[in-house]
Amino acid sequence: MAKCVMVLYPDPIGGYPPKYARDSIPAIRSYPDGSTVPSPSRIDFTPGELLGCVSGALGLRKFFDEGGHELVVTSDKDGPDSVFERELPDADIVISQPFWPAYLTKERMNKARKLKLALTAGIGSDHVDLEVAQGRGITVAEATYSNSISVAEHTVMQILALVRNFVPSHRWAIDGWNIADCVERAYDLEGMDVGIIAAGRIGRAVLRRLAPFDVNLHYTDTHRLSPQVEAELNLIFHPDVESLARSVDVVSIHSPLYEATHRMFNEKMLSSMRRGSYIINTARGEETVPEAIAAALKSGQLAGYAGDVWYPQPPPPDHPWRTMPNNAMTPHVSGTTLSAQARYAAGTREILECFFAGTPIRPEYLIVEGGKLAGTGAYSYQK
Ligand code: NAD
Repeated sequence: MAKCVMVLYPDPIGGYPPKYARDSIPAIRSYPDGSTVPSPSRIDFTPGELLGCVSGALGLRKFFDEGGHELVVTSDKDGPDSVFERELPDADIVISQPFWPAYLTKERMNKARKLKLALTAGIGSDHVDLEVAQGRGITVAEATYSNSISVAEHTVMQILALVRNFVPSHRWAIDGWNIADCVERAYDLEGMDVGIIAAGRIGRAVLRRLAPFDVNLHYTDTHRLSPQVEAELNLIFHPDVESLARSVDVVSIHSPLYEATHRMFNEKMLSSMRRGSYIINTARGEETVPEAIAAALKSGQLAGYAGDVWYPQPPPPDHPWRTMPNNAMTPHVSGTTLSAQARYAAGTREILECFFAGTPIRPEYLIVEGGKLAGTGAYSYQK
């Protein structure tokens, strides 16, 4: 019998379950690289249901009950008096989503003496101290690929929202009508230089979706793509982020957050960019310096900033990104569409089934195992 603490975002303000907009979601059979979608022995939810909030419990209440395990589900995650911190000392498993991250800092992990598995229902395990996990032999796993396409779609939407000045135009459609005010900052994306930082699962999906827009596509990654893919998408490779940043009109960030990418978009990097550049960041908020982004928007060095990742999450009311000009921010939602939730809830169950059965977790789901970076972690969080 194990104890699992699951930290999920709060239920809808209007109550759970909500009235759904659609009756079903398309069935996705495999991912673009041919790998299989999550394949647990069973699921106890209907795909398309809201699973990522407390009442949704990732569709796993029955699974834990039937296994005789203890399950605590909470959204109360911050501060020493939070339910999360109170329940942590005897937890064997912590499940958290990057949208509402339960920060597993060194101090918190030191309190969690029984912790064996930190599971991310989604992608990106930077909210876990990966060094402590390695030192303690804690497994860190995530549902790789489960929401990569979801994020890629959101990214394309936000690139277009910025370049075409969608948000102010939408406001004019609701309240007033002045065409000149809508278009004085509106451009076509066609012909622009668009650069992607990290061509992993999300970055590659963004490149593929942007190719038909007749833009000049640039990328950088610590692992260069094959000559075939570069030729197929007509990609310009840059050896580092600096070279890419100064060569493009639009930058989209898709790298994991770790030492090498922490506060990468600082004042120096921003000032090296073309005046009027756009940045879209659906990777992690801490890959930029928030005050430097807000200042560059105010000065006009940046024409726009969009994305869905912040630090901390949720951000305080006075976070500079809430009020900076020319932003098209959303809360952290790109990877938690109802479509994505069905996949990452099933992926979470697949990982749990392996954990309880003592069978191997798929290497692509692993970030840390056996005291070292493993699988996707060894590939993507490379020093
Ligand atoms: P992935 O593991 O498939 O790809 C990561 C890529 O980053 C790899 O190709 C790796 O070589 C590259 N990389 C690592 N360090 C780099 C560096 N210093 N410079 C350039 N490239 C570097 O991961 P993915 O599925 O594409 O996800 C990428 C990130 O997106 C995640 O780590 C996560 O932080 C974020 N994410 C956000 C959401 C969301 O809802 N906004 C959802 C999923 C993932």
